[in-house]
Formats: sequence, structure tokens, C-alpha cells
Amino acid sequence: ISDWTARSTGSPPRVSFEFFPPRSGQATENLIDVAMRLARYTPEFMSITYGAGGAAQERTRVVASALRARVATPIAAHLTCVGATRREIDAVAEAFWQDGICSIVALRGDVPDGGAYIPHDEGYRDAAELVAGLRQAHDFEISVAAYPEPHPDSRGEKEDLAYLRRKWEAGATRALTQFFFEPEPFLRLRDRVAAAGIGIDLVPGILPVGTMAQTRKFAAQCGTTLPPWLERRFVGLDKDPVTTGMVSTALAASLCFELQREGVADFHFYTLNRAEPSIALCALLGRVPVAVEEAQA
Ligand code: FAD
Repeated sequence: ISDWTARSTGSPPRVSFEFFPPRSGQATENLIDVAMRLARYTPEFMSITYGAGGAAQERTRVVASALRARVATPIAAHLTCVGATRREIDAVAEAFWQDGICSIVALRGDVPDGGAYIPHDEGYRDAAELVAGLRQAHDFEISVAAYPEPHPDSRGEKEDLAYLRRKWEAGATRALTQFFFEPEPFLRLRDRVAAAGIGIDLVPGILPVGTMAQTRKFAAQCGTTLPPWLERRFVGLDKDPVTTGMVSTALAASLCFELQREGVADFHFYTLNRAEPSIALCALLGRVPVAVEEAQA
């Protein structure tokens, strides 16, 4: 039984970091700086989300390629099925491959206005079909999404598990989860995945609270439960970002420790493009930074 606390001398967990593509060139430079600072913690990979359309999607490629050129960490690009034909999506995947980005987080995506999802007539209908398409094209490393609490479109845990099985059978090797704030939903999902014989690596997605207003919005969009105790921890801190950051990091670290006690050894951090919360979490989890030259080697 692992005894995980901040004093633990056991092996530190593996980590990965998720970013979104910024809009401006200056913000992209800032993100590269953030990524270089985080690279010192030798993550397994860093991933760049895929926008809802046009220019936002092009930015994913620009930022992923810029990071690939400047940071030694493997870069994964997210890719969705929304509003595009198979041919168009295959072309984006091909461009990633030609840029040396061989790892994809394959997703269905959502419609930009938040309405019901309708697949494109000539498109991939869901993430499992996209995984199969990517597999045919190249030897991509493929990650997908998984849901500790049922996805808003699903009829429940059974349906989510069936979708996860299809994604694994199509060739995905890793599932990054939606964020959650108490360990039980993740641990139950892990049990269900194991009992169903789905041999995918399940990695918890951890979201350190940025602001409570933003977290409420994200949680409502994706169906994550915001426990009342969590809301209480941030009462009176609306105009105090420094203390909010401290409380948020302490709570995220506490969730990681609880999961580590249950044998979890990988964490995927939703960074919101900020370095400090993830650096603090790495430090608390016992990951020691290497020199910049080593990280860039
Ligand atoms: P799928 O695996 O295809 O389906 C998800 C669930 O929806 C299924 O489990 C099933 O229960 C239900 N479902 C799907 N289709 C149907 C159907 N026809 N009928 C009934 N039920 C159905 N979004 C972006 O736009 N860009 C990103 O970069 C991005 N990155 C993400 C990263 C992570 C780690 C996660 C967890 C999510 C991310 N998302 C992103 C959000 C994601 O696109 C949404 O959650 C989307 O609604 C579902 O995508 P999926 O790949 O899980 O879809």
C-alpha cells in the first residue's frame, strides 16, 4: 500500500500538461516560455487543444509546431470531428505528421453554439471513427477522452464505457479524463474499465481552480459535479487571485495524493496556459526539475 503524503519518498508520478492555442503572436511566445519552464519537470507529453473552427484550428498547428521546434518534450495535437469532412480532417492529421507531431488526442468535439451534436454528412461521426481513420493513416500514438461522470450526451455510464471500448478497439492507447474534484468517480471508472477488460491507460485530468466563476462555467458545460465543500473553500476570495491560487493548488495536490494512495501514477494537468500551478503541483508531488539544457536536449 503506498503511503502518499507530501513527505513521501516514493517514485514521483508521471505528468503531462495541456494548453490551449493563444490568439496572438505575443501570447504564443508567452506560452512557449510557460512550456519551457514546465519542460524542466520532464513531462511525458504536452498537448494543444483544437479550436471550434477555421482560424482557431489553424492555431493548433502553428502552436504545436512552434512548441515542437523549441521544447524537447513530445507534443500531442488535439483533433476533433466537428464540421469537417473526413478528407479535410485527414489532411490536418497528415500536416501534423509532416510537422513531426506523431501523437494525437482524438475527440468528437462539440458544436460551437452548445446545441445538439450533428455529425457532418461526409465526416467522422464520433471519436472512435476518427481513431480508426488516424490508425489507417500513420502510426500515431492516440489518446482519447474518458468521463468519470457521464458525458452530457450519454444515456449513462454504460454508454460511455461502450464508446470508450470502441475507441480502444480502434487503436487508442491512452484515455485522458474530464476533470473531477473528488476521487470516487475516477476510481469507479477505473474499476469499470478494468472489469470490462478495456486495456487502455486511464489518466486522470486535474484542473486546478483558476477562478470559481470560470470553474462553474466549465463544470456546467461538461457535467462535472462541483461539490459544495469546494465552493466553500473559495468564499471571499473572488478578488484575491494570489490566495485563490494557493487554495487551488492545495486542493489539487490533495486530490492527487488521494489518487496516488489508490495506485494512480500519472496525472494530466489542465494548465489554462499558466506555469505556476503546475510547477507547484510537480514540486508537491516530488518531481524534481532538471536543468534547462537537459530538458531541451
Ligand atoms: P465520443 O467518445 O465520440 O463520445 C463521448 C460520449 O458522448 C460517449 O461516451 C457517448 O456516451 C456520448 N455520445 C457520443 N455520440 C453519441 C450519440 N450519437 N448518441 C448518443 N450518445 C453519444 N473539445 C474540443 O473541441 N477541442 C479539444 O481540444 C478538446 N480536448 C479535450 C480533451 C480532453 C482530455 C477531454 C476530456 C475533452 C476534450 N474536449 C475537446 C471536449 C470533447 O470534444 C467533448 O467532451 C465532446 O462532447 C465529446 O468528445 P469525445 O471525443 O469524448 O466523443
